Amino acid sequence: MIDFLNLLRVNAPHQPAIDEAIQRVLKSGWYILGSECSAFEQEFAAFCGVRHCIGVANGLDALTLTLRGLGIGPGDEVIVPANTFIATWLAVSQVGASPVPVDPRRDSHNIDPELLEAALTPRTRAIMPVHLYGQPAQMDEILSFARRHGLKVIEDAAQAHGARWRGVRCGALGDAAGFSFYPGKNLGALGDGGAITTNDDALAERLRKLRNYGSSVKYWHELTGTNSRLDELQAAVLRIKLQSLDAENAARSRLAQRYLQGLQGLALDLPLQIKGAESAWHLFVVSLHGETGKRDRVQQALAARGISTLIHYPLACHRQPCYAAQDWPALPVADDLQDRILSLPISPVHQVEEIDQVIAALREEVGSAA
Ligand SMILES: *Cc1c(COP(=O)(O)O)cnc(C)c1O
Repeated sequence: MIDFLNLLRVNAPHQPAIDEAIQRVLKSGWYILGSECSAFEQEFAAFCGVRHCIGVANGLDALTLTLRGLGIGPGDEVIVPANTFIATWLAVSQVGASPVPVDPRRDSHNIDPELLEAALTPRTRAIMPVHLYGQPAQMDEILSFARRHGLKVIEDAAQAHGARWRGVRCGALGDAAGFSFYPGKNLGALGDGGAITTNDDALAERLRKLRNYGSSVKYWHELTGTNSRLDELQAAVLRIKLQSLDAENAARSRLAQRYLQGLQGLALDLPLQIKGAESAWHLFVVSLHGETGKRDRVQQALAARGISTLIHYPLACHRQPCYAAQDWPALPVADDLQDRILSLPISPVHQVEEIDQVIAALREEVGSAA
């Protein structure tokens, strides 16, 4: 049996340090917005190379609060990728703004910079690129487009902890970025968690209030804020796991290179490595050639051999019941990719032998490129 992602195995090497950290928090008698959270915020800001990190309750809140903090709301439009986890879109909807989807590039799965112009209207306020599967979006094109049109750039970095674009970490590329520490992410907590990174001092100050009832002085509320905080236990766990993040991403990268070599010549597209992009390899997603239905057959054949795979994501956001009633522009690439993509097992604790088994199974089940 080859798991897609086994969190028990992922967290096992950290267990002694985590046990100690949990005891430390327990005995401190202080469980919300204390020294663990502020230490993690400093350490994660330093890791990303930004001035500020604000811990919040989850990745969706990180994105939603950032939009709020930038004053984006009803009547505004935010450009988003058509293919992403639903949270990117939901954040925009939650502040009362409208998501405006743009198709991905077929080879990189990231938002196609050449299609941005067509999505622009007088109401566009921001663009929210997603570093999908851990690969940085094409930030040069996105940032210059945004500067030309006076738009804010909010990175959805929920899959890209540690990834780099031209040597700069994801999270330090736009005006602000939202991270998730959902357990399955590259930097995962033992529950929900999230953070915002930014170099904007005023935005950071506003976000610190927004996440804590609009308050920075107890029982004095300047903003109609919310309760969205990274608790002390999760922050303590994240501080431990942050120390190994680069090493764990390097382990992912070695397995990804193994896949890239071993899957050459098959009737599938391998993840493109854009020049300048250093992926965090959160997911390793291939896209199968041929007729629709082939992906499902290959996935079943792998399952029969004990190999677990997943699909990220089986239904594009504009096809989801909560959004399907709206009139969306044609998004042919997202529509087509959702039926071809297959996510293969990858994590810092998968063994090379396991990856080789997946490669061998795919070589038998997929067939050669035409
Ligand atoms: C996981 C994820 C989120 C949301 O994070 P949560 O912590 O689950 O709220 C947002 N965007 C993307 C691209 C994600 O993968």
